[in-house]
Amino acid sequence: MADMVRKCTQCGAVDRRFSWKSIADASGDAEYERPWTCSSCAWTEFELVSDEGGGAAPSQG
Ligand SMILES: [Zn+2]
Repeated sequence: MADMVRKCTQCGAVDRRFSWKSIADASGDAEYERPWTCSSCAWTEFELVSDEGGGAAPSQG
């Protein structure tokens, strides 16, 4: 099952340093509440997305 990870709303970079089981799990979590800065473009706004492994190739198993 895919975890929820941060995705920069500016450049689309996915930040996998932290992940959560669900949006409900993220909300209220100390790390989620901390100010965040994109490591790629220094944007500060992100959305939570399902971490499905990234890349174009579908993962097996
Ligand atoms: Zn970014």
